[in-house]
Amino acid sequence: MKFDNVSSEIEDLKSEMTRVLMELIRIPAIAPENNGEGESKKAEKLLQILKTLNLDKIERYDAEDERVSSRKRPNIVTYQHGENLSERIWIITHLDVVPPGEESLWTLAKPFEPVIKEGRVYGRGSEDNGQSMVASLFAVKALKNLGVKPKRTVALAFVADEEQGSTYGIQHLIEQGLFRKDDLIVVPDGGNEDGSFIEVVEKSGLWFRIRTTGKQTHASRPDKGLNAHRIGMEYALALDRMLHEKYSLKDEYFDLPESTFEPTKKEKNVDAVNIIPGEDLTHFDCRILPSHNLEDILKDIHWLAKDYEGKTGAKIKIEVLHKSVAPKPTDANSKIVVMLKDAIKQIRGIKPKVGGIGGGTCAAFFRKIEAPAVVWSTIDETAHQPNEYAKIDNIVSDAKVFAFLATS
Ligand SMILES: [Zn+2]
Repeated sequence: MKFDNVSSEIEDLKSEMTRVLMELIRIPAIAPENNGEGESKKAEKLLQILKTLNLDKIERYDAEDERVSSRKRPNIVTYQHGENLSERIWIITHLDVVPPGEESLWTLAKPFEPVIKEGRVYGRGSEDNGQSMVASLFAVKALKNLGVKPKRTVALAFVADEEQGSTYGIQHLIEQGLFRKDDLIVVPDGGNEDGSFIEVVEKSGLWFRIRTTGKQTHASRPDKGLNAHRIGMEYALALDRMLHEKYSLKDEYFDLPESTFEPTKKEKNVDAVNIIPGEDLTHFDCRILPSHNLEDILKDIHWLAKDYEGKTGAKIKIEVLHKSVAPKPTDANSKIVVMLKDAIKQIRGIKPKVGGIGGGTCAAFFRKIEAPAVVWSTIDETAHQPNEYAKIDNIVSDAKVFAFLATS
């Protein structure tokens, strides 16, 4: 079989790919943590599309979740058998999207009303993770259209709950025993603009909320209360400085080379400008190099909180929302890394670099069970931003790489 045929078949499918991506973007799939209804509606749409492909097998592994009205978080797995049935390449993408954020910043499209402009599809979830979802789907579709049997079995997984920790998504699938250590796993949920970066390791992750409690009072009489907002901000800024100064190692293998400690979400406090808040809630997102110990960092966070409690009389509570210690990297010489490097070289004529990122993607859960997983795609890194977009040419070109991995 000549790969050129597959390439041109994928190119012919370009407008269909674009249409499918737009259809998927129109269905919000937001986690209950962010007041969403989960992925059920989007999964139904995807199933309709998948059924038209006549794949060898389609399976559903829903995880129960009382917080959404469908009471389930859907996970879909499809198989297209290869000549070699015992070898499987997995392409894992996620159905869920993050909320739009500040809607007024969406100047080029409404978040869930996708538009095409200058070869890009704009909309929430276009890049993260719609582009790769569609690319993986159409890589298989192109092979089916041509009657080409892949060399190895191609398994596609479309999972829930990636943005909130994957309990109802990839972790649920791993618990079902779906994966083997000799599987070849691609998680196209990260990458760079020319597709020259293959990620084999992620940083550790730590999310926490700082709950500062003071005493609410009238804004004209601060002496009668304790302003939790001011103390919360002061503590957050001091913490920000301390963490950056103390945990400042750099590792050039990573893109970014340093650990990140970012104050992010700020929860609403009082309703009126003339009330001194009695409570302040600030979140931090930290992505930490594996060489730093998370427990040491947590100790310092608590120590500084005690210090500020002593200084101010407020109560400062640290609530850990998510903590993941970076698992061992995927071996840079493992089969999937070598295959992917070769595919990128053959199709794009470039030599990719292997390294680490801030994470965290589904790949970390595979590394925990010692299944070799790589993160790769070709993206401008607009995920989670207003005016998120996917370049149509990248969808086509990434689909070719996936088809190459399946057939060579
Ligand atoms: Zn993603």
